[in-house]
Amino acid sequence: MSKKIISIDQGTTSSRAVLFDEKCNLIDIEQKELTQFFPSDGWVEHDPEEIWSSVLEVTKNIIDKHKIDFSDIGSIGITNQRETTLLWDKRTGKTVYPAIVWQDRRTSDFCDDLRKNGLDDDIHYKTGLLIDPYFSATKLSWILNNIEGVRKKAEAGYLAFGTVDCFLLWRLTEGKHHKTDATNASRTMLFNINKNKWDVELLKIFDIPETILPEVCDNIHAFGETKLFGGSIKIGGIAGDQQAALIGQCCFEPGEAKSTYGTGCFLLVNTGKEKLTSKNKLLSTIAYRFDGQTIYGLEGSIFVAGSAVQWLRDSLKLFQSASETEEIIKLRNMDSKALVVPSFTGLGAPHWDPRARGAIFGLSRDSGIPELTAATLESIAFQTKSLILSMIKDGANFKELRVDGGMVKNSWFVQNLANTLDLTVLRPKEVETTALGVAFLAGINCGLLPDIESLNSIRFSQKTFKPKRDKVDTQNKKFSTWLKAVERTKGLF
Ligand code: ADP
Repeated sequence: MSKKIISIDQGTTSSRAVLFDEKCNLIDIEQKELTQFFPSDGWVEHDPEEIWSSVLEVTKNIIDKHKIDFSDIGSIGITNQRETTLLWDKRTGKTVYPAIVWQDRRTSDFCDDLRKNGLDDDIHYKTGLLIDPYFSATKLSWILNNIEGVRKKAEAGYLAFGTVDCFLLWRLTEGKHHKTDATNASRTMLFNINKNKWDVELLKIFDIPETILPEVCDNIHAFGETKLFGGSIKIGGIAGDQQAALIGQCCFEPGEAKSTYGTGCFLLVNTGKEKLTSKNKLLSTIAYRFDGQTIYGLEGSIFVAGSAVQWLRDSLKLFQSASETEEIIKLRNMDSKALVVPSFTGLGAPHWDPRARGAIFGLSRDSGIPELTAATLESIAFQTKSLILSMIKDGANFKELRVDGGMVKNSWFVQNLANTLDLTVLRPKEVETTALGVAFLAGINCGLLPDIESLNSIRFSQKTFKPKRDKVDTQNKKFSTWLKAVERTKGLF
């Protein structure tokens, strides 16, 4: 039997095991939903045992379903929801508290205090991040300070901290390895991305004992071996989900960027060996680290992307399925002036206004379902353009944009994106880019794939959407009007 690669993709809403052949063609996916716990206002937790059992279950299922012997699995790769924070006892493997999920806001006041103490610039310079509950540091500090007996155990050297990748590696290797990779470390707000090591001063500020931290490794690395699936299988690659997608899209040159359009949208551009420091509140982050060489990225997110389509479907009940949108848009009045500002939860980069809310502008008597649907999809392209313009101001270049995520099944959306951005947009045949990214890493580590350079040649066929000249001008004008509409939604509530 030819060799296989398995990617474990532990996401916010589900755990998946994705099976690839030795050339990284996707064979099958097993998936299990994950329960979300909301114990208090703004709190979001996962049960670590459910994270673990779901990962174990989907991995076993895919191996059994395809009757694969452990010796046929070249290597396992792990990708994960980033920033989510776990702390466990090394003696028992049991966590001392549930996983605090990246969305959790319980440490907002702590973050306000850090800002009041003038730590913004220092933290931004060292970690590339902005002070926010989103990142692991304040969550970890919260567990250490609020759960009885935990700090004492941590100081005695009994506890281990990790993001989800690190926790899974610990469990898969039955407590042998306490390691993470540079991309996951770069989202903790404790890792100095300039020096590539845990930052002693930040550990002091957050009052975190150094002994609980994992070793930080390259993305392609012999992380350890698991014996839980019949025999010894290598774990050869780890990367956080957005960075894994960047790798899966083969964005290995400065200026190559990927944008993932799911519920929200994450845009990450490779900025090369130089870290760019944003003046527009975007994040600098580690894109990947191969052979000790760090490559940086600039990251921005759009809060509302596919969720705007869900709003049209579930709240306005304009259609029954998101997949209908492409046909509906064909019926629109081409002269429609309708514009949507989908700032349902405030405005993100580059505006950063939590008091803005969504609005529809330019309605006329004939504005109907097709016009509103088109305006909503256009608004996601306009948000992308705003983000890209900010990144360009910060010094990033864009050669083209590679897209993935559920929304890009809609070809009208992707073509409109190309016209609006005046950039070539590439949609891969294989949209499971996150799992593919760590399959590449694992495949290289076990020798099934020769090296990073070889990945471009096995990159899968993709559809190219070139900007249509006549449409670029129209979209430019619409974008200027849309920006004025955005201004009018600011500071209202
Ligand atoms: P997530 O990983 O965040 O759950 P997915 O990548 O699965 O998201 O993408 C799902 C999102 O894409 C949903 O918000 C849905 O509304 C949107 N979507 C799915 N199909 C289409 C389509 N054909 N046109 C526009 N939006 C779509």
